[in-house]
Amino acid sequence: MLIAPLLGAQQELPGRADVRKALEYIRGNHEAHLERQVRIAEIPAPTFHEAERARFMADQLRRAGLRDVEIDKQGNVTGWRPGKTAQTLVLAAHLDISFAPGVNTKVRKEGKRWYGPGLADDSRGLAALLAIAEAMNHAKIETRQTLLFVANVGEEGLGDLIGIKYLFRESPHRERLKAFISIDGTNPARITNGGTGVKRYRVDLRAPGGHSYGNFGRPSAIHTAGRIVAKLAAMEAPPSPKTTYNVGRISGGTAINAIAEECTMEIDLRSESPGELDRIELKMHEAVRLAVEEENSFRGPSGLQVKAATRLVGQRPAGQTPETDALVRAAQWASRATGHTPRLGYASTDSNFPISIGIPSVTLGGGGRSDNAHSLQEWFEPEDAWKGPQTVLLTILAYDSAER
Ligand SMILES: [Zn+2]
Repeated sequence: MLIAPLLGAQQELPGRADVRKALEYIRGNHEAHLERQVRIAEIPAPTFHEAERARFMADQLRRAGLRDVEIDKQGNVTGWRPGKTAQTLVLAAHLDISFAPGVNTKVRKEGKRWYGPGLADDSRGLAALLAIAEAMNHAKIETRQTLLFVANVGEEGLGDLIGIKYLFRESPHRERLKAFISIDGTNPARITNGGTGVKRYRVDLRAPGGHSYGNFGRPSAIHTAGRIVAKLAAMEAPPSPKTTYNVGRISGGTAINAIAEECTMEIDLRSESPGELDRIELKMHEAVRLAVEEENSFRGPSGLQVKAATRLVGQRPAGQTPETDALVRAAQWASRATGHTPRLGYASTDSNFPISIGIPSVTLGGGGRSDNAHSLQEWFEPEDAWKGPQTVLLTILAYDSAER
């Protein structure tokens, strides 16, 4: 059972000489940490292709003084900072970027704004991870809990949290991992303590095909897809608990004058509430079923049929670390301590998985400002970005000193 952090122990933190030394180290090395963020961002790491960036991070975590740095079976980089007990707090940032192999990862600067795919999401988090490890060792900070630093694979898209799932479900350390902080996003005022549930589907439509004129009247895979999209696009979704749907990709067909034999759609469903997620998922299945029925009945005289196969290709459970949890309280305190007004919220991040198995988890910002993640226009502004790693470090220390 967790109770709120001891206020006394927390209030002492900013006055402690070792803590001040670590915070000053982070601020004083701001430029060097930015340079490293850019170096990380320029090593391409699309989901399932993170190996080169992983090797770089392993080398950097060793230089930062972590113990037993290795790349695990799943491709995650792990490094240890032993505490007085074996109970372990995991501090993670994700290696992968949500871009296809071949994307140009060169970072360019225009005034105070820097551009690069994945420069903020999550190269900032990886740079913050290194800054925190260095600062703790520089200031010789001791903790009660052991810290496990992780640069993990598979956060984005069809990665489906494969890296963090491995860590908590299968890795030899899983039994001792008791809390989780992911550094993702940038804003140190934002504390993500809720995991938006996500389900992702692939719908494969197959039809007999034929000539657009000669075989007119046969069912079409693309026309069926159109019927599905029309039904989904007209669906109501509640603003609270926020629930969303998106047909993100469609591909299919072979020629302008051929009735489409195949069409594939990728659909992303999200909700803050498991019940709403189930509801929207049912509606999606209903839309597919009805669209196929309509197309087949409309093209009934041809005697031919279109068929749909629906497959779940990604799943992130919804859930929440309660506001009263010591980790959430520690994060709120730390955010205030660095001059922010903290806000709690929901997102879909690596924290979803540990939250779903009851492990206190939050996702915190790595510092600076950013927008347009997952697009080629992703940008990052480094002003005051040192406050990100400072806030995360204070969260770790406040949580570590909390009475449990
Ligand atoms: Zn991210």
